[in-house]
Amino acid sequence: MDMLSPTRAASGDALLVINAGSSSLKFSVFRTRDDGGVTAVINGQISGIGTEPKFEAKDTHKTPIGAKAWEPGEKADRTALLSFLLDWIEGHLDGARLLAAGHRVVHGGAGFSHPVLITDAVLDELEALVPLAPLHQPHNLAAIRALAEAHPELPQIACFDTAFHRGQPWQAQTFALPREMTESGIRRYGFHGLSYEYIARRLPQIAPDLADARVVVCHLGSGASMCAIHAGKSVDSTMGFTAVDGLPMGTRTGCIDPGVLIYLMRSRGMDADALEKLLYNKSGLLGVSGVSNDMRVLLESADPHAAEAVELFCFRVAKEAGALASSMGGIDAIVFTAGIGERSAPVRARVGEKLAWLGVSIDAGRNDANDARISADDSRLPVWVIPTDEEQMIALHTRAVLALAGA
Ligand code: ADP
Repeated sequence: MDMLSPTRAASGDALLVINAGSSSLKFSVFRTRDDGGVTAVINGQISGIGTEPKFEAKDTHKTPIGAKAWEPGEKADRTALLSFLLDWIEGHLDGARLLAAGHRVVHGGAGFSHPVLITDAVLDELEALVPLAPLHQPHNLAAIRALAEAHPELPQIACFDTAFHRGQPWQAQTFALPREMTESGIRRYGFHGLSYEYIARRLPQIAPDLADARVVVCHLGSGASMCAIHAGKSVDSTMGFTAVDGLPMGTRTGCIDPGVLIYLMRSRGMDADALEKLLYNKSGLLGVSGVSNDMRVLLESADPHAAEAVELFCFRVAKEAGALASSMGGIDAIVFTAGIGERSAPVRARVGEKLAWLGVSIDAGRNDANDARISADDSRLPVWVIPTDEEQMIALHTRAVLALAGA
């Protein structure tokens, strides 16, 4: 990739946001606003990459505005798919200029504490981090390479899930391992950083009195983690070296005594691949319930194991809230976000009950209505529900990196 000369965004320009996975690529198109913000105008995805690719796009009213299915035999490698996507987007910009693409990149290692304009040298550094996130990083980078091949002139910006946590105190980032191992990169990185950064930005807009507060944010989706945020900065988080640490998730264990893994290797002959499948795909809500990885299904199920899975999840969320409060020397507010956090009143209610000792009191009516503030008026701690928007955060970063690079 050549060095690029990005253009500073003017009002009404367009920015592309890409979140690339193993077989799907989600995208959003944003328009820049005069006030420095961005507004989403198109969302969509290409699914079935590597098998039978399908493209679909919707406007902000969720009305379909584009669709295509690739025929077997039709050229459909990543470069061809991204070339199609760019052409399609450029045909739907009403004359606006597409200035750049911002990518969600799972791992920025210890080095990247901010989003960055991607050059060949940056790409090499990100490639070196693949062993730290083998399930996600290669797909993020494949999309960047394919887009560079299809549109070498388009600036690309990498936004990292780890970057927001890089300012954490060293204690929060360090395992009690021999120093040489820590120095080689075996340390706690934390993830979901783009979501937490969005919440840290949004919270003071909604509740100005909480701008300098100590807040525990619960990002509860099919991947779930929590973050201690003090005055807008990450202080500690539940995910560590990988995104399998911390809370139990849809199919992931969350933290587990590492002695269990040694035991499984010795007594059941499990190797790294078998352990990876166990920890990432067969455990969590699915493993405990034997019913589903989907919180909605579990909440509706009459199976007692489904109820146990929900209870274990809530227990661990409450427990981590206590631990994160300790990392901040106290707690002033709680925020719920992501699929379960934004929409599951029973989970929020149960976590609230478990945190009554901290002075949490959830108002049942507000909670059931998914109100923004769900705590009772007499709750010592305010409890908020704030929808996250990682795509918007990436678009804002992309705009900011362009402004810096073009300045
Ligand atoms: P991710 O982005 O990590 O794939 P999401 O943030 O979309 O995940 O969250 C997915 C989770 O949210 C699933 O467990 C799903 O069951 C849960 N969820 C979505 N809607 C509801 C709801 N109304 N009640 C309970 N859980 C819900």
